[in-house]
Amino acid sequence: MKILRLASGCLTFAVIALLAASRAVIASADFAKSANEAASYLSQYIKIDTTNPPGNELAGAEFLAGILRKNGIEATLFDTARMRACVYARLKGNGRKRPVVLLNHIDVVPADAKDWKYPPFCGEIHDGEIWGRGALDMKGVGIAQLEAMLMLKRSGRIADRDVIFLATPDEEVGGDYGARWFVEKHKDLMKDVEYLFNEGFFIDTDNQGKPKYWGVDVSEKSVLWLKLTARGDAGHASMPMPDSATNRLTRALNKIINAAPEARVLPAVQQYFQAVSGCETGLLKSAYENVQAAVKNPEIFQLILQDKLKSSMLRNTVSLTVLKAGYKTNVIPAEASAELDCRLVPDVTQEDFIAEIRRLMNDPSIEVSVLDWVHTGASPYDTDCFKAIQEVAGSESPAAPVVPVVVPWFTDSHWFRDLGIIAYGLLPFRVDEKHLVTMHGKDERIPVDVFNGGVVTMYRILEKVCCP
Ligand SMILES: [Zn+2]
Repeated sequence: MKILRLASGCLTFAVIALLAASRAVIASADFAKSANEAASYLSQYIKIDTTNPPGNELAGAEFLAGILRKNGIEATLFDTARMRACVYARLKGNGRKRPVVLLNHIDVVPADAKDWKYPPFCGEIHDGEIWGRGALDMKGVGIAQLEAMLMLKRSGRIADRDVIFLATPDEEVGGDYGARWFVEKHKDLMKDVEYLFNEGFFIDTDNQGKPKYWGVDVSEKSVLWLKLTARGDAGHASMPMPDSATNRLTRALNKIINAAPEARVLPAVQQYFQAVSGCETGLLKSAYENVQAAVKNPEIFQLILQDKLKSSMLRNTVSLTVLKAGYKTNVIPAEASAELDCRLVPDVTQEDFIAEIRRLMNDPSIEVSVLDWVHTGASPYDTDCFKAIQEVAGSESPAAPVVPVVVPWFTDSHWFRDLGIIAYGLLPFRVDEKHLVTMHGKDERIPVDVFNGGVVTMYRILEKVCCP
């Protein structure tokens, strides 16, 4: 009996092991098949030129809707303008939990073919990499999201929540004909949505392909575009006027751009620096461990400021981008203007920042006007969805923590955060420095293995959030 029981126990164990193994084999084969399918979709999608402006995203929207329909998922196109459309599709769950949205944008930023090694809309694979505008930002993510949805449907499981796929035009120039249009006209379709996945940050990876940390966009810096205008008398340049419009504007701009940077450390940012301190050594490591204290030391703050991306989370920034004055060398112009792109830490108001600009300029004659203002909310990260990302990260790359990031750029997430939806921005790809700089730059591309891995990662996260 004892032996028999032992034998049957072993047999049971063997069967379970075999089943587990066969399931794993089938699963990995399915993963590979889906990833290959997705890579082919991405190549085709890149070939559709959706450069914004003008966008012309309709063809991209029809392409995505066609894939969804072919796979038995109803997809609706919403025209937002001529040749521009959103794609909306919903995979029904059992309703036990609130819906999750997979958000991506169809448009891409312009690309000048003469700067590129291969044509920017070729979608071809060269040296194991998929080339083309949008490979990372963000047609690659859109296709990974789409494929994850197809995989969930094909698994035959009924998820605990509806999964909504939403592809929008016009993100790259602000979303007026995309995400903004959609949340204004079809708020009903976002009713009860709990979570949203979008672009934002990425799996920061060293140049050996080893993930350092998974950065999840939980908030974004606010955008404030200002125009400064100085006015005065016009005159002959042979008789200089010390207080001419050009001179006063130049003096004011000097004060703004030379102002000493001031640190402002939000709790999420403090946590971010603590989490990434493990990737550093020496002085920077100890500075990151307690960045709140470190920024009070001017020398250490200067050291931290050398990392433009990370340090941008610690302060408001100003970039002088447009200067206009004059039309002839020998004429002092009556008007001079400058445009500033200011990015503010999310808890700073535009009124406070404008007051600070006026204080720095110390010249009330210079007019300050607001060209644009986008305030972005923040999403909490003590949620089961964030935990799901942590679990997937823990299984795929245990040494790399999942870190909340307040990103210096902005995405369409703010439109949805304004509706009370918890939005997380994460490219599911392992992105190293070499590829990161190609986003909005030249030679944008993604290694096929990185893309394939990202498709599986996206699916795993979606599965955990929908079928825990
Ligand atoms: Zn983007």
